[in-house]
Amino acid sequence: MQALISGKTLELVLGDITTQEADAIVNAANSGLRGGGGVDGAIHRAGGPEIMRECRRLGGCPTGSACATTAGRLKARIVIHAVGPIWSGGGAGEAALLESAYRRSLEVAAGKSLASIAFPSLSTGAYRYPLEDAARIAVVTVASHLKGETSINKVSFVLFSDSAFAAFSHALSRHAGQKDSQNE
Ligand code: ADP
Repeated sequence: MQALISGKTLELVLGDITTQEADAIVNAANSGLRGGGGVDGAIHRAGGPEIMRECRRLGGCPTGSACATTAGRLKARIVIHAVGPIWSGGGAGEAALLESAYRRSLEVAAGKSLASIAFPSLSTGAYRYPLEDAARIAVVTVASHLKGETSINKVSFVLFSDSAFAAFSHALSRHAGQKDSQNE
């Protein structure tokens, strides 16, 4: 599934982010950049120890922000470690922090003049952010970036389960529908 936003592509892919062709691969990292399970473990396994060496040098990355390292053995040019919030009921600023993690990742990639970036669904695994809400925030934040001046011409959401793919498809259709009705 894909959509065109100001001439740039937003696509949804069902699969493993470590095998994607994109200039930047985004990791769902923790604020200590210590590695972990889920997509974080998969990226470090596939990319090799050079990524963790750079993470240790950085020492951490605050929740809601994003920090770049080498991509090691991955095909990408860089890995962007985005730190989404841990869900704790929604009253602790989680939505703003999730939006910021996506926005900062896009800004880091655009700051390096990269053309393509692949995201996993941040915060929706071990961090338990409700999937439908997280998908809406992800789609709206990426669409808003693509509407502005940016070097990025392709954003992929690489979704690891049918339920994540369905949630993002729903969010993308709703976003496209809202845009159409605004244009009418
Ligand atoms: P978080 O701690 O931010 O919640 P997780 O890695 O636990 O991060 O989960 C984030 C999302 O990434 C989940 O939807 C999970 O299913 C998905 N995921 C896990 N492994 C991969 C992978 N190799 N490629 C893409 N997505 C993945």
